Amino acid sequence: MQVILARFTQLLSVTLVGLLTAPPASAWWETGHRTVARIAAAHLTSAARARIAQILNVPDTPKAVADALALASTWADETKSQTHTGAWHYTDLAIQDTLADLPARCHHDNCATERVRIFSHPKDLDQLRYLVHLVGDLHQPLHAISDADLGGNCEHVSPPVDTAQNLHAVWDGAIVNSLGLSDRALAASLNQKLSSFGKDAVAELAAGDATDWTWESHELAIRLYRELGVPVEPVIFPKNCREAPAAVANLTFHLDPDYLQQNQWTVREQLLKAGLRLAKLLNES
Ligand SMILES: [Zn+2]
Repeated sequence: MQVILARFTQLLSVTLVGLLTAPPASAWWETGHRTVARIAAAHLTSAARARIAQILNVPDTPKAVADALALASTWADETKSQTHTGAWHYTDLAIQDTLADLPARCHHDNCATERVRIFSHPKDLDQLRYLVHLVGDLHQPLHAISDADLGGNCEHVSPPVDTAQNLHAVWDGAIVNSLGLSDRALAASLNQKLSSFGKDAVAELAAGDATDWTWESHELAIRLYRELGVPVEPVIFPKNCREAPAAVANLTFHLDPDYLQQNQWTVREQLLKAGLRLAKLLNES
C-alpha cells in the first residue's frame, strides 16, 4: 500500500510540475504559428530553402525544413519573459492613430513592425526564430491595436471560449483551435486553396512590407472592435488591466457560439497571408 501511495504521490508531483512549468499560452498559440511556418516553407525558393536548412541545421528537404521551421516558430514566445522582449510581439497602435503615428508607437524599435524589419535578413538561428514568430504575430489583428486595453487582453469573455478568458486570447487561439486541424493539416488545406489562385493573385496576397501588414491588421482589428461595440477610449497605454479605463476593464462579452465560426475565414486568410509574406521575406533575403 505504501509503495502504491508513494508511486501515486510521485505521479501527482510529476503532473503538478508539468502543469506549473508548461509554457504560457502563446500568441496564435502553437497551431497558428506553426501553420504560418509550414506555409512559408512550402513557398521557399530552392536557394532560400538551402540557406534556411543550414541555419536550422537540418537536411535540405521540404519536409525537414517545414518541420524545423514549425518547431522554431514558437521559441520567441517561450523565451520572451527571460529575454524581456515581450514588446516585440505587438505594435500598440491606438484606434485614433493614423499611419503617421506608427514610428512614435515603436520606441527604440520595441514593436513587431520594426522587429520584423530588423530580422528580415536572418543571419542566425535566433534572428530566424524571431522573424518566423513575429510575422505571425503581426497578422493576429489584436497585436496591432490599442484601446487602452492591451490589445483586447482587458475585455473579459464569459463563459470562457475554449480556454480563452479574454478577447485577445479568443483571437490568439480559440478561433484557430475551433478549426479542429493540426498545423500540418491546416497548412495543407490553405496551400490547397491557393492552388486554385493565379500567380498574380498569390503575389498580391504576399505584397507589401511590415508597415503595410501592420496597418492592415490594425484596420481589421478596428472593424472587430466596432462589431463587438467596444467603446473608444482615450489614447493611453496602461501597463496592466488594473490601470485600464473601467469602460474596457469592466467589459464582459458573452460570445455567441457562432462568433468563432464567423471569424474562421478571417483567421485562415491572415494565416495564409502571413505564411506567403514570410516566404517572400526569406526568398528576398
Ligand atoms: Zn508572440
